[in-house]
Amino acid sequence: MPAPTCASCHTARANLRRPRSGQALCGACFCNAFEAEVLHTVLAGRLLPRGAVVAVGASGGKDSTVLAHVLRALAPQLDISLHLVAVDEGIGGYRDAALAAVRHQAARWELPLTVVAYEDLFGGWTMDAVARSTAGSGRSRSCCTFCGVLRRRALEEGARLVGATHIVTGHNADDMAETVLMNFLRGDAGRLARGGGLGSPGEGGALPRCRPLQLASQKEVVLYAHFRRLHYFSEECVYAPEAFRGHARDLLKLLEAARPSAVLDLVHSAERLALAPTARPPRPSACSRCGALASRALCQACALLDGLNRGLPRLAIGKGRRELEEEAPRGGRSVPATDSLTAF
Ligand code: SF4
Repeated sequence: MPAPTCASCHTARANLRRPRSGQALCGACFCNAFEAEVLHTVLAGRLLPRGAVVAVGASGGKDSTVLAHVLRALAPQLDISLHLVAVDEGIGGYRDAALAAVRHQAARWELPLTVVAYEDLFGGWTMDAVARSTAGSGRSRSCCTFCGVLRRRALEEGARLVGATHIVTGHNADDMAETVLMNFLRGDAGRLARGGGLGSPGEGGALPRCRPLQLASQKEVVLYAHFRRLHYFSEECVYAPEAFRGHARDLLKLLEAARPSAVLDLVHSAERLALAPTARPPRPSACSRCGALASRALCQACALLDGLNRGLPRLAIGKGRRELEEEAPRGGRSVPATDSLTAF
């Protein structure tokens, strides 16, 4: 059966059916619609004010590649300027190739690029060193928990370094739905309560963050990259198979097969979630070490680094964190900026 005519331009042959609406579109009309929807998300959510200097968290993967490309196209309309910020976690055999992809994109799109490394920011710790340390304590499955916290901190540092006023990340609807599921499965009411909305306004001196692709499905992100001929790095991180997120992803696929709207329903559920007063986490205060927002004495990044430096990584992410904090000396400044409340 021949492909139908594009439902938008009514001249070209349709190349795809949009996964959610079923609308048949040609590649050009699909890309235009995708960009218009991201523009709507940004404007309706008042995510990026005019004149904003926007640090784009660039990993070389499909999501951040598409995000940078779309925002670059929308920048004149939004009156924003962009700066790519890439984080080198120190993952041998993985991150070097991904960073090469980011450098290629920055050169091709003539966007400034800054790379910040865990090793420089966190007293010599790389993710490979963290993985060796946590494997020794039987916690190799926790790599992404450490990395998510440190990555968020590193991106904040990189954004400040380039004078950014806002941070954007490439999380899409599927990523957000996975995060909501993970938080439910862990019974993590605090993260559930903070995870809704399209971003965070920048409490406690942190830069405002947002996720302009949060309502875009992963399938459409891939289709956009395909029709715009974007090259991205698609290999999986060597630590990803250990991550709990993989279970949430598998579960989400099953749910989506039974109910196609499951991804967006989960994203919107988190936006509307209201916790009972008794379930609300305590109001965050300042980390006693770095001054970032923290729900306990130490922010997550300081607690993790403290545990690693003492050879007690297990305490830093487990129930023993309070014990570790009580022992921790006050004052000093091991890492600057904000607390991380969301795992990568
Ligand atoms: Fe870090 Fe985990 Fe992502 Fe690898 S998969 S970059 S360890 S968060």
